[in-house]
Amino acid sequence: MTESTQAGSRRIVIFDTTLRDGEQSPGASMNLAEKTEIAQALVALGVDVIEAGFPIASPGDFQAVRQIAQSIHGSVICGLARCRNEDIDRAWEALGPAEQPRIHVFLATSAIHREFKLKMDKEDILRHAVAGVRRAAGYCPNVEFSPEDAARTEADFLCRVVEATIDAGATTVNIPDTVGYATPTHMGQVIRNLRNRVPNIDKAVLSVHCHNDLGLAVANSLAAVEAGAGQVECTINGLGERAGNCSLEEIVMALRTRSDFYHAETRIATRRLVPTSRLVANVTGIHVQRNKAIVGQNAFAHEAGIHQDGMLKERTTYEIMRPEDVGFATTELVLGKHSGRAALASRVKEMGYALGPEQIQTVFEAFKLLADKKKEIYDADIAALIEQEMRAVPELWSLVSYEVASGTGKVPRATLRLRRGGEELSTELACGDGPVDAVFLAIEKLAGISVVCKSFNVHSVTVGKDAQGEVMVQVEHEGRLYRGRGISTDSLEASAKAFLDAMNRIAAANQAVRVKK
Ligand SMILES: [Zn+2]
Repeated sequence: MTESTQAGSRRIVIFDTTLRDGEQSPGASMNLAEKTEIAQALVALGVDVIEAGFPIASPGDFQAVRQIAQSIHGSVICGLARCRNEDIDRAWEALGPAEQPRIHVFLATSAIHREFKLKMDKEDILRHAVAGVRRAAGYCPNVEFSPEDAARTEADFLCRVVEATIDAGATTVNIPDTVGYATPTHMGQVIRNLRNRVPNIDKAVLSVHCHNDLGLAVANSLAAVEAGAGQVECTINGLGERAGNCSLEEIVMALRTRSDFYHAETRIATRRLVPTSRLVANVTGIHVQRNKAIVGQNAFAHEAGIHQDGMLKERTTYEIMRPEDVGFATTELVLGKHSGRAALASRVKEMGYALGPEQIQTVFEAFKLLADKKKEIYDADIAALIEQEMRAVPELWSLVSYEVASGTGKVPRATLRLRRGGEELSTELACGDGPVDAVFLAIEKLAGISVVCKSFNVHSVTVGKDAQGEVMVQVEHEGRLYRGRGISTDSLEASAKAFLDAMNRIAAANQAVRVKK
């Protein structure tokens, strides 16, 4: 669906790199199913281009780009490649099945990268960049070129590289601030300089890719748009290398809220911003801070009395955006024990999720169980149930029951029953540093998988004594990290479920490896 562009306003292309740059955040690696699920959510969000990965980087990356190219429709699917034949060939191999493929080639151009990393002079760089773009253009008409570290590249040389790569067939030229060094005025000047001095600049879309090392990624991207850039590269929740990338939700809402100034718009369905942010947070285990702009829990909370008074009289006194525009529900408290499936389904739809009838049924069953334990069910509770349903991995083991006896100065004693296929297994042991540790040790013993627990986080999904607790664990097994998530009104049960979820992920990964051999 495309909205008509208002008179005089430009359409800005939103290029999402959550699955490539975002995945390079420490601890954010995702498996194939998770990447496909996020790609689906990005299409629903209205992202124009999805950078799905760096195919030559690993077999996993290749497989993810290929699967997304095959199964995802509605956005351009892009794969990254260095200016090397084998990189570009491999990228095309992965992208081949896509309806709208794009090959993205990059080569560093700054003096510091030329001298120390590449050991190439300016003429070598030009030759390689042109050859890379030509090779990619031989495969597909949609080619993006990025002069890596462009923001620190000499202005004259950058103009030459941009002109030559457009001549060679680049349809988008992306200007990355790879190290997060630029400031808004500087970034605006870089873009303006290219627009004024490169003779064939109108034959390509100018793009920016800003990193957030100085907290300026969104500001720099906006300055680039103001100076004439037509594409912004960004990620959900601002994920990415080091301090991350330009955050998609922030740039989109800045352009929308200040359309009076930028005269620019995007194709993004802004009501899907919060659900997409939650999905990415749950899949990666990297939660956004409460005061994060647009999607943080407090982004629209007005606590100060004087603000509340103003808000009651006229919302716009203190509110520049409406919470429902970004996907927060307008009413908080909604459902309870007596709510039916239709009420749940309509609430789910209002929250921005698109679930099929079978998924609604599963979520409804979980909702009924929860309503027995908890009087008031909030949107965040429903979101937690949906995300649990959408992210379910094949369950080799499931929890039947557990019991822990513990107390000050006592060694905890855990009794655990798990189901595996048709059979039930149980164990009892007395050890561990506390009840949670005892449950984890019992699960490890029954599952026969040993792990090292790297992180353990509990937070409450909503408010009140009967609130659901959400537990996120990260464990290491044979050098790889696995995440697990569990929710329950009982935080010890949520811990057991999260640990089992991680075990099931390890089992699924081991099975995949066995199939491949
Ligand atoms: Zn980057």
